[in-house]
Amino acid sequence: AGLVVAMDGPSGSGKSSASRGVARALRLRYLDTGAMYRAMTWWMLEQGVDVADPAAVAARCGEPEIISGTDPDGPTIRVGSTDVAGPIRTSEVTGSVSAVAAVPEVRTRLVALQREIIGTGGIVVEGRDIGTVVWPEAAVKIYLTASAEARALRRTAELSGTTVEAQQAAMARRDTLDSTRKADPLSMADGAIELDTTPLTLQEVIDAVLSVVAR
Ligand code: C5P
Repeated sequence: AGLVVAMDGPSGSGKSSASRGVARALRLRYLDTGAMYRAMTWWMLEQGVDVADPAAVAARCGEPEIISGTDPDGPTIRVGSTDVAGPIRTSEVTGSVSAVAAVPEVRTRLVALQREIIGTGGIVVEGRDIGTVVWPEAAVKIYLTASAEARALRRTAELSGTTVEAQQAAMARRDTLDSTRKADPLSMADGAIELDTTPLTLQEVIDAVLSVVAR
């Protein structure tokens, strides 16, 4: 199937930039599985589904066609023919995605889609459960961490009109939901290498992952 690099960790750990950089350096494809959960959540909100009702989410989660483009230089995400790259980053979607991602039927569907994509060749895949559930046989598994403050600082720099304190609170809430849910909670995979990105530049993180790949 080609080289599979699993990049897991909490929000703000620097996964996206690092994963794209590693994919570019190795000429591999790149898959952002968080974007798929966000696209599912965007569609549920668009349809007026009550995302706090797991049964309602489960009943509808087979409907949207979620299409991920895997070019690390320009990853894309569509629902049917609608480009949702912008809409999936709104605070509405970010505030609801953990609830949608906790629904087992949603995970079963998206994990199957992810496995189809991964199975067609070399790829860097970022998420929460890639090394534990989606592709445990990945040749390289990285678990990125960073201090809560560093993560909130990064996220605040990416967004406008927010404060570090507000971001830290929102991320803590999402991490708690993601780590304590019953279905595939965020955790470190067997054989994963933990990389604390707090003191590192993006290039240093990329180089550290590349050195793991090379050994
Ligand atoms: O990585 P990102 O912040 O875009 O992920 C959004 C949300 O999607 C996470 O907070 C988590 O609830 C969910 N997610 C997941 N499993 C993944 C990727 C993301 O449950 N593999």
